[in-house]
Amino acid sequence: MKFFIQSRNDDLSNELMDRAKTYLSDFGLEWNEESPDIVLSIGGDGTLLHAFHRYREQLATVAFVGIHTGHLGFYADWKPAEIEKLVISIAKKEFEVIQYPLLEATIHYRNDDQTKYLALNESTIKSPDVTLVMDVELNGTHFERFRGDGLCMSTPSGSTAYNKALGGAVIHPSLDAMQLTEMASINNRVFRTVGAPLVLPAHHTCVLKPVKAPDFMVTVDHVQLLHKDVKSIEYRVAKEKVRFARFRPFPFWTRVHDSFIDSDV
Ligand code: NAD
Repeated sequence: MKFFIQSRNDDLSNELMDRAKTYLSDFGLEWNEESPDIVLSIGGDGTLLHAFHRYREQLATVAFVGIHTGHLGFYADWKPAEIEKLVISIAKKEFEVIQYPLLEATIHYRNDDQTKYLALNESTIKSPDVTLVMDVELNGTHFERFRGDGLCMSTPSGSTAYNKALGGAVIHPSLDAMQLTEMASINNRVFRTVGAPLVLPAHHTCVLKPVKAPDFMVTVDHVQLLHKDVKSIEYRVAKEKVRFARFRPFPFWTRVHDSFIDSDV
């Protein structure tokens, strides 16, 4: 089996990376940055987001596992003290693979070019200077004209991230879905939006069409880019899935509890 380790690059994460690399090599596993079977991410959720984007072209063959060197993460759910246990499990291939849905975002430009992105957490749209004004279409039918700070489309596993801060629902990642949440919509007698998060199933599309200004700040997970001359932004549940290596039961709702309510980890 081939492995790679992505570190957050702080002292503790680098020290753990060196130890894990030595142990795994001693067990006969091959360090392979180009085409690993398993990628260990050591740091936080942000480190795993980086690892995911680094291997987004190889999602069908790469399995991820996250170790947290700060607080318990959603994707980074192994403690540093468990590194030996984890390494032995990897070496003995004692793991199952679980798959979580992803979000596909396609940005169409006025010159008919397009760029496609995959998000593990979410994609957000904001206007660089003025109020965001966007027509929202669901499955090709006009739904609402949004005015406000921005819109966020998240995956189920990303529902505990930015989406949650926006008042979105926490969604179990076994559901093939995406969730649209509003950022401070303007709602009065003139302007109206639904004012509630929308959960859309796989094979539904949500297309955002600029009403005036065609330039937008678009985030895909931790990456933020200014896109100019945008014709539309199309969201759907991606065909691709992300694969996580699971070595022990750590149910999603337990992770939600331990992350947000009470935890000794
Ligand atoms: P960061 O360093 O600002 O970390 C953001 C926090 O989000 C960290 O505590 C991380 O553990 C947590 N997080 C990331 N993914 C999560 C998930 N799926 N469930 C629960 N918590 C999660 O930024 P970063 O490390 O570059 O991460 C980028 C992410 O930050 C974005 O994908 C977005 O979800 C999140 N974010 C959140 C807010 C907010 O809550 N108001 C605002 C901007 C971005």
